[in-house]
Amino acid sequence: MIVGGGTAGWMTALALARMGPPHAPHISLVESPDIGTVGVGEATLPTIRHFNRWAGIDERDFIRETQASFKLGIEFRDWREPGHSFFHGFGDHGPEIAGLSPYHQMIRLGLGDALDQFSLPAQAARAGRFAPPSDDAKSLAATYSYAYHFDASLYAAYLRRLAIGAGVAHVQGRIDHVARNPETGLIERLSLDDDRSIAGDLFVDCSGFRSLLLGGALDVPFEDWSHWLPADRAWAVPCAGTDAIEPYTRSMACTAGWRWRIPLQHRIGNGHVYASAFQDDQAALDALIDGLDGPPLAEPRHLRFRAGHRRRFWAGNCIAIGLSSGFLEPLESTSINLIERGISLLAQLFPTAGLDDVLAREYDRHMINAFAGIRDFVILHYRLGRRTEPFWQAMRAQPMPDSLADQIALFEASGEIAIRDPESFGEPSWAAILFGLGATPRAYHPLADREPADAIERHLARGRTLIAGHVATMPPHRQFIDALAAQP
Ligand code: FAD
Repeated sequence: MIVGGGTAGWMTALALARMGPPHAPHISLVESPDIGTVGVGEATLPTIRHFNRWAGIDERDFIRETQASFKLGIEFRDWREPGHSFFHGFGDHGPEIAGLSPYHQMIRLGLGDALDQFSLPAQAARAGRFAPPSDDAKSLAATYSYAYHFDASLYAAYLRRLAIGAGVAHVQGRIDHVARNPETGLIERLSLDDDRSIAGDLFVDCSGFRSLLLGGALDVPFEDWSHWLPADRAWAVPCAGTDAIEPYTRSMACTAGWRWRIPLQHRIGNGHVYASAFQDDQAALDALIDGLDGPPLAEPRHLRFRAGHRRRFWAGNCIAIGLSSGFLEPLESTSINLIERGISLLAQLFPTAGLDDVLAREYDRHMINAFAGIRDFVILHYRLGRRTEPFWQAMRAQPMPDSLADQIALFEASGEIAIRDPESFGEPSWAAILFGLGATPRAYHPLADREPADAIERHLARGRTLIAGHVATMPPHRQFIDALAAQP
């Protein structure tokens, strides 16, 4: 039984329905049309493509149904300081050089500020071009990946159609009571406000920030990270797009947070995430509206949230997936990635042979690690720049998690990047943010000096030329989408 029909609920329903016999359980999804969904998750990570494949989603259909565009990464504007920009692309910055990660040579030659030039996705994105990567592992075009931007409500509606087609029973109604077995504590039954009641043996809580089952009925406490990530509100509003669609998200640092700009086929999604302790709601809305490319297409939506997660993700016969399990501000588009990870773990640990607490403990261990890894990566963005507003000074002054403090200190002392959660962000992602924000390591790997500097410079210059040559062969992003969508 799945509770909630937002992105998390329908992704879970479709994925479980696709598990097929002998595992395919009898799945029902209950949602309340009165409560509605958050509906603002528009940017994703490349892992969404694995999910779509698992769910049997054809890319052409998906692009047509959800007004999606392709995403090669994120441009960060004004984060290091006003006027500066850098790119976090979904790809590497070149192969190893003489057996070492290329970053050691970049440090040695003082090329940290030129990192974007070694990233194919960054160069293609800035040129407004897109083509899918090559399958030939030896090709330069195999060194990057891509994700999507899409209209979240269209995606949920599309998933709903597919899930119902795959046999998921859809129940509409508002749950007003969750009944538990007095002896085992397991959830047994959900009562709806029109006197219907539904029994189940396994419950997936996708009820959004309400966390109706895990946080509500089961009272699992919330691990609050708002002292590390104090942004707690957002305004979101779409505006008209232009003919050219940039194949990347733009994230712009502001007085007390940051704004996003996500170009889709039919419009641009915009939002402003801010800390209410440092900026009032009206000023935050004004900053968003002032920065739009065109007139708003709808009333701005106001959202409130808190950074952190439930201390357990799986308790008894209830697993929380999506916002009901926790949330981190959408700076690196990680919420849908966490949903995918929850679904994939649930499939792996599905209690086919009955409930066993070892399954729940293993699930929790993975999800806690995933949240902590993403938390560190997101906090990193706030730590190294030079913005001077009170919010930014406070972000740099506060203590940070030990795991992140060690990662930054290690990089500064040695040029080494220690990755604790490669499933979300690997070495190239950490390098993009560390160099992009202006970190300057005091040392690099001693073996980097074995090669003469001028030979390395020639090698790197060749790499840049190859990237520029390849980008020139890629079609403009809009042209690529139109051609794909027009295919039968
Ligand atoms: P919801 O969308 O809130 O759905 C909850 C469901 O539960 C609804 O169907 C509701 O009807 C149902 N429900 C609740 N209570 C009851 C009840 N009593 N009875 C019956 N049904 C009930 N993620 C990304 O990956 N990328 C992004 O760019 C991104 N941007 C974001 C920006 C902001 C400002 C915010 C707040 C979030 C963003 N997210 C993003 C997160 C993303 O929106 C969510 O992860 C995603 O939409 C999943 O939400 P959900 O399905 O968990 O919850």
